[in-house]
Amino acid sequence: MTSSLPLVFAAPRRTPPPRHLADLAPDALRTAVTECDVPAFRADQLARQYYGRHVADVAAMSDLPAAAADKLGAALLPRLLTDVRTVTTDDAMTRKTLWRLHDGAQVESVLMRYPARTASRERVTVCISSQAGCGMACPFCATGQGGLTRNLSTAEIVDQVRAAARATADGVLGVPGRLSNVVFMGMGEPLANFARVRDAVRRLIDPVPRGLGLSRRSVTVSTVGLVPAIERLAAAELAVTLAVSLHAPDDELRDTLVPVNTRWPVAEVLAAADHYAAVTGRRYSIEYAMIRDVNDQPWRADLLGDLLRPRMAHVNLIPLNPTPGSAWDASPKRVEREFVRRLQERGVTVTVRDTRGQDIDGACGQLAANGGKAAKQGQRIVTST
Ligand code: SAH
Repeated sequence: MTSSLPLVFAAPRRTPPPRHLADLAPDALRTAVTECDVPAFRADQLARQYYGRHVADVAAMSDLPAAAADKLGAALLPRLLTDVRTVTTDDAMTRKTLWRLHDGAQVESVLMRYPARTASRERVTVCISSQAGCGMACPFCATGQGGLTRNLSTAEIVDQVRAAARATADGVLGVPGRLSNVVFMGMGEPLANFARVRDAVRRLIDPVPRGLGLSRRSVTVSTVGLVPAIERLAAAELAVTLAVSLHAPDDELRDTLVPVNTRWPVAEVLAAADHYAAVTGRRYSIEYAMIRDVNDQPWRADLLGDLLRPRMAHVNLIPLNPTPGSAWDASPKRVEREFVRRLQERGVTVTVRDTRGQDIDGACGQLAANGGKAAKQGQRIVTST
């Protein structure tokens, strides 16, 4: 047979996401505005609307003349994220949105409000995705099971935060509030999409009108431990908070829980994190999902404590969120308490993460963008297309 291959065998061709204001640094934005035959000073207005007021619809920008608004909207503010479905739980204080991207790929972000307590002010955190799917294949993580679809663009990342800030100000979490924190703990491995994530982080922390003006320390980039990329992040001088998903103190077990460990083992990952801490002067977090009878033994707590005692690290224990079809479960509370006690005994600070959004599959590691579940008790579908 000599006929050419039928079309179905051709490799899928992906068109990149359309160009968006948030992809562009300030100079490039001004150039793009003048290319629309609109005076350069409109770039500043546009950026103030987008980053300062979190408005993405030119029709709502009353300071722009209609003709300019139309041209700028078409050229620089294409709709990147379409809300497929938003579900709330925890008395509407947790809110998960499934977004459809321009090419049909889907990602999720989760918005969470933590009311003020005596010792702390109210926090509103958005957990965002940096890739559609993930290529890291950690066996306990739902996203890891589906493989990588594609990297998100800088603007696709930033716009998740912009949308969250707008929704927060609009009072979707009960009362109007202010978005304070961003964690790259949704779908994807942020450091495997390095340049776009780095540029997105710049847009998050640069002051209005260059960016959203969030504080550096309230932005957390979480990684499986891609050592060269941690070094690049340190060199980029963003000084955002680094979180390392360790999950085991020993290479034998970590090779199975976080497969890239076979390339960059525990000692190298911690050395890279130490370097990051030295450059930024900031503590880093160690993420540790507590998996019953897998990584929760007292001797592993001791080993982890000994490893971290001399380091500028803080441990975040995450009760495992069991993923469908997995035999693994969260550790019992008394095992968790003993793990905490042993770490503290070695002078290591520990917090146990609360499991927000578990019932809407919005908790850590559950973001698989399978979007089609029926509502259960206590949760509410807010939008659905
Ligand atoms: N790729 C990044 C971001 C992933 S999600 C990273 O690995 O750090 C953020 C955290 O949730 C990671 O620490 C990840 O290991 C953890 N996680 C994934 N699946 C989980 C699950 N089922 N239960 C608890 N934590 C999980």
